[in-house]
Amino acid sequence: MKMTDIAIVGGGPAGLSAAITAAASGAKVTVIERDDHLGGQLRKQTHMFFGSKKQYASTRGIDIAGILQEQLKEYQDRVEVLTDATVLGIYEDGVLTMEQSDKYMKLKPHKVIVATGASEKFLAFPNNDLPGIYGAGAVQTLMNVYGVKPGNNVLMVGAGNIGLIVSYQLMQAGVNVKAIIDAAPKIGGYLVHASKIRRMGIPILTSHTVKYAHGKDSLERVTICKLDEKWQPIPCTEQDIEADVMCISVGLSPLAELLWQIGCKMVFVPELGGHVPLRNENMETSVNGIYIAGDVAGIEEASSAMVEGRLAGLCAAKSLGYYNESYEEMRSDCLEQLNSLRSGPVGEKILTGLSKVTA
Ligand SMILES: Cc1cc2nc3c(=O)[nH]c(=O)nc-3n(C[C@H](O)[C@H](O)[C@H](O)COP(=O)(O)OP(=O)(O)OC[C@H]3O[C@@H](n4cnc5c(N)ncnc54)[C@H](O)[C@@H]3O)c2cc1C
Repeated sequence: MKMTDIAIVGGGPAGLSAAITAAASGAKVTVIERDDHLGGQLRKQTHMFFGSKKQYASTRGIDIAGILQEQLKEYQDRVEVLTDATVLGIYEDGVLTMEQSDKYMKLKPHKVIVATGASEKFLAFPNNDLPGIYGAGAVQTLMNVYGVKPGNNVLMVGAGNIGLIVSYQLMQAGVNVKAIIDAAPKIGGYLVHASKIRRMGIPILTSHTVKYAHGKDSLERVTICKLDEKWQPIPCTEQDIEADVMCISVGLSPLAELLWQIGCKMVFVPELGGHVPLRNENMETSVNGIYIAGDVAGIEEASSAMVEGRLAGLCAAKSLGYYNESYEEMRSDCLEQLNSLRSGPVGEKILTGLSKVTA
C-alpha cells in the first residue's frame, strides 16, 4: 500500500494552499483531486477578486489557480498530485480508498486534510428537471471553461454574490438576463455587484420566487410570484418570464460526506451553510489527525479557504515534526488574516457560525 505523510483531498484553493505550506515545512504530501485539473472553483472564475494583496486581490480567480500550482511546483520532490482520482472513503485504521481511471487504490497517510469544497443547493418547484435549468456552477463551467453559451434568455434565481457575478458574466457573453429574483427581502450580494447589474438594466426582484417552470422538451417560460413577509406566495402576483435558461444560485452546502464517514462530530450551523465538523484553532476535527480547510469547513470565500488551507497544512506538518523557526509567526499570521477577512457585516454571520463549532 502507498504511504504518505499528509493526504490532501481536493485540489481547490484550500487544498493547494495546504499542500504548499505542508510541503514547504518538509512533509511528503499527496494531493488527490477528482477533476482532471487542479484549481477547484477558481478555474471558472474569470472575474478579479476582492480582499487584500496576501489573498491575490485584483487577480482573476483562474490566474490565482495558476499561481498556486506554480508555488506547489517548487516542492515537487515532496509532492505527488493525483488528478481524475476520487477519494471514496477514510477508514478508522487511517486508510484512505480512492478510484482513479477505473482502478481502486489504497493510501495510508499519517494525517489527512479534507478540502472537498461544497455542492450547490437546489429548489423544489414543478418541472424543475426540465433541460435548461442549471446550477450557477454549471453555467459558469459551460461559459468560462468550455466557451459554450448556455442559452439566450436567462432567469437568474438568487441575488447573492454568485448570482450577481454570473449574471454579469452572462451579459458579457452576449446572453440576455431577463431578471434576477430572490426570495429574501434584501439583496444578499455586495452592493457594488448589484449596482453594476442595475446599471446594465437588469431588474432585481426581491421577495420573489419560482412558482412553475413550463416547456415541452426544454424550458420555455417561468411563472414567478411575490412573497409576503412570512415567505408565503401572495395570490394574484404571478407573472410569466420567457426564458430558455433558469440559473439557480441559492447557496452552497459543505461537501462533508468523508467527514461523516470517519466519525467527525458534526453540527448543523445555518450560518456556515449546513452540517460542518467541530474543529480546534489549528483546523483539526474531533477525529485525531483529520484536518479541514475551505468551504467544507463552512461556506466562505476563496480568500479564507486559502488561509485556512495554509493553516491546516502548517499544523498538520508540525504535528508530524516538520516545521521551521518561522512556524509560530506563520501560524499567527494566518489567524490574523482570518480575523481580518471576517471583520465587517458579512464576517459577523461567519463568526456567529464559527462560535458554534470552534473548541
Ligand atoms: C461564481 C462564484 C464566484 C466567486 N467569487 C469569489 C470571489 O470573488 N472571491 C472569493 O474569495 N471567493 C469567491 N468565490 C468562492 C470560492 O470560489 C470558494 O469559496 C472556494 O473555491 C472554496 O475553495 P475550496 O478549496 O474549499 O473548494 P473548491 O474550490 O470547491 O475545491 C474543492 C475541490 O475538491 C475536489 N473534490 C471534492 N470531493 C472530492 C473527492 N471525494 N475526492 C477528490 N477530490 C474531491 C473538487 O473536485 C474540487 O476541485 C466564488 C464562488 C463562485 C461559485
